Amino acid sequence: MIYDVIVSGLGPAGSSFLKRLSGSGLKVLAFDKDEFPRRKPCAGGLTVKAYNLLNGLFPGLEKVVRVSSKSIELHYKDHSAEISAPTVLTYLTDRGELDGYLFELLPHREFEVHTGEKCLSVERLSDENLSVKTDKDSYICRTLVVCEGVNSRIASRFKIKKDIGFTYEIDVEFNYGSRIVIDFSGFSWGYYWAFPKGDFITTGVGEFKSRELFKRLRELLNGFNAKHGFRGRILWERGFPIPAGKKNNDVYRNRVLFLGDSGGLVDPLTGEGIYYAARSGVIAAEVVKSAFAKGDLSRLSVYKAWVDGEMGEEFKWARVVGKLFFPLRGFNFYLLKRSKELPLLAARLLSGDISYKEGFFSYLKLVPKALFKF
Ligand SMILES: Cc1cc2nc3c(=O)[nH]c(=O)nc-3n(C[C@H](O)[C@H](O)[C@H](O)COP(=O)(O)OP(=O)(O)OC[C@H]3O[C@@H](n4cnc5c(N)ncnc54)[C@H](O)[C@@H]3O)c2cc1C
Repeated sequence: MIYDVIVSGLGPAGSSFLKRLSGSGLKVLAFDKDEFPRRKPCAGGLTVKAYNLLNGLFPGLEKVVRVSSKSIELHYKDHSAEISAPTVLTYLTDRGELDGYLFELLPHREFEVHTGEKCLSVERLSDENLSVKTDKDSYICRTLVVCEGVNSRIASRFKIKKDIGFTYEIDVEFNYGSRIVIDFSGFSWGYYWAFPKGDFITTGVGEFKSRELFKRLRELLNGFNAKHGFRGRILWERGFPIPAGKKNNDVYRNRVLFLGDSGGLVDPLTGEGIYYAARSGVIAAEVVKSAFAKGDLSRLSVYKAWVDGEMGEEFKWARVVGKLFFPLRGFNFYLLKRSKELPLLAARLLSGDISYKEGFFSYLKLVPKALFKF
């Protein structure tokens, strides 16, 4: 049997792809190396745009939201500022529970879905067909959709280029309500986070630029947890890489599509990746359906153009905003405290309500107002 599509990896990218492909009539095999629910190093924060996208695909998502937060407490050295909004800014989930829920709602009857099966390699058999080898069997397909996360072997085999940062996370048994804490002190391009989950908090640090800090992330995280008073039994800890999206993303090779982290599709400023994983799933599904419907698989290359047009632009502006924010953190905190509008702008940006480009130009307009109070 020759499958139209094989999907390797069923995190938010693979699950969203499959869900959106439902009803297409294509012959699809999807597998993941793990059994669900499984753990994934992640703070599990969903911006409003991520929540809305996932809830549209997987209705009832509120079942896996542990905490909904309307405020974010920001710190930099001895500065602090609060961003709050009348509506939810961030939905906090446990990634194991979130991905388990997405997996449960997949169209299992329509497509062949295997768990506990790991993709090992892929070879090109001809212009038409690819051979995919797993630790259980070998399969033939016409299109391969790679959703294996940041450590994808296939992405390495195809020499997919991505910028990489590093993180360290500790889940601490501690209940402190619904406040999110972010601290920018001491990073080159990164931050500390504490995301409440009800009976525990996910705390973590991530850095995209400084190699010196990459080596000290665990020590740094323990220091921040002590500073903010988050002490309790450690439930889980882990270090993990995180990619950073670019203007020009390396996401397509002849009939092989790279989604989510496998293609490096993560906001280079905040590290938000769940939205981009799910959105790349939706885009890829639309492109695959259309290419098969027209009987012309050369049209699969539209995937890269679509991703770059939509996300590459956003990632480019995220980097511009980062270049303005990180070197001038003290000044930006000063402005945040002087202005009523800037915290609201930050809230809209962090919830995904406006793009980085819109945020950048609104910021430029608000700075003189904040400085001279007119
Ligand atoms: C510490 C940390 C905190 C983060 N916090 C946030 C956050 O709060 N909010 C946010 O939006 N983003 C966050 N991110 C980013 C987010 O986790 C990722 O961008 C997102 O998980 C990408 O989804 P994905 O589907 O591409 O890959 P993944 O979620 O990594 O899923 C990949 C899947 O592929 C499977 N797989 C891997 N290899 C194989 C193989 N060879 N064969 C078969 N299956 C395979 C894995 O088992 C897994 O299920 C964080 C990242 C890190 C590291």
